[in-house]
Amino acid sequence: MYDQYKRKIEYVRISLTDRCNLRCRYCMPEEGIEKMRHEDILTFDEIIRIVRGLAALGVRKVRLTGGEPLVRRNIVELVREIHKIEGIRQIALTTNGVLLADLADELVKAGLTGVNISIDTLKAATFADITRRPVFARVEAGIEAVHEAGLRDVKFNCVPIQGVNEAELPALVEHFTHLRPWKFRFIELMPIGCAYEAGLKGIPMAEVRQTLENAFGRLRPVPAASGVCGPAAYYQAAGFRGQVGFIDAMEHKFCSSCNRVRLTAEGFLKLCLNAKTGLDLRSLLRSGISDENLRLALQQAIYHKPEEHFFKTAAYQEKDSRAMYQVGG
Ligand code: SAM
Ligand code: SF4
Repeated sequence: MYDQYKRKIEYVRISLTDRCNLRCRYCMPEEGIEKMRHEDILTFDEIIRIVRGLAALGVRKVRLTGGEPLVRRNIVELVREIHKIEGIRQIALTTNGVLLADLADELVKAGLTGVNISIDTLKAATFADITRRPVFARVEAGIEAVHEAGLRDVKFNCVPIQGVNEAELPALVEHFTHLRPWKFRFIELMPIGCAYEAGLKGIPMAEVRQTLENAFGRLRPVPAASGVCGPAAYYQAAGFRGQVGFIDAMEHKFCSSCNRVRLTAEGFLKLCLNAKTGLDLRSLLRSGISDENLRLALQQAIYHKPEEHFFKTAAYQEKDSRAMYQVGG
């Protein structure tokens, strides 16, 4: 369906949990996290009902995220059920990769079509410093498992941070995209959660791009792929099989082509990453709403999706105070 600004909404990102087995410095504090109560989190049946309603309105792609989606029990079963919903063509996962070695094969068999793995470094010590957990080898095993499971849509997300992984950016791109047709994307550090309180400073995308061009020569723009796409702009270095992407979240560049809505683990339909407006679907579901009325409620909410986010505007006070692990990135 189209919203009031004529944007085609065909993508939902679903946060399955606010829990995580890592504690990345820019995302989650080590302690003092107030966890959601189990009974407040949507059940798989509730998620399936919402996805059915969204699919009836034209949503074609589902991404499962979190927190860490793979810590949610029986996630393979959820993927299998979403795969059966008419209209859904892509089911993707955003994960830190720690549990992928055990689950990649089953997930792909259940219908998973793509995975985004977050990885900021190739060094075990830097990984342990950023994530506060010494489990780099498990992520490496997870990446290998994805390769062996034959998944074709494989992307990596990296947040470049001054003085932390700054010197490794060309090495990361080379490692993941030189010989394999994978996509390595840089995400600008966002003023969300504990990123700034932790004293971390991001690196502007223009600077990252310049660093890569110094290492590999001119990056050639790659036309957008078919299917439901995200906000990354992709480039390729000469002689590389894969691509490098840039997600410049601080500018308003992609609001005008935004094609997505988000569902929080507690069942709140967020219409914009950084705005409070949305719809409390959990209350509607638990008060016995019919499928038809659910579809109408979704339709009305999506129609009123905000025009743009507020990171840099005077309306910043309208921002949502939730962190990335609570809304799913
Ligand atoms: N746990 C999963 C993971 O790490 O991929 C999924 C959830 S995580 C919140 C999704 C993405 O958000 C990750 O790629 C992470 O790097 C990114 N992220 C978290 N906090 C961020 C921040 N303050 N600025 C930019 N990206 C952030
Ligand atoms: Fe967990 Fe992902 Fe946040 Fe890191 S970025 S703490 S892996 S939710």
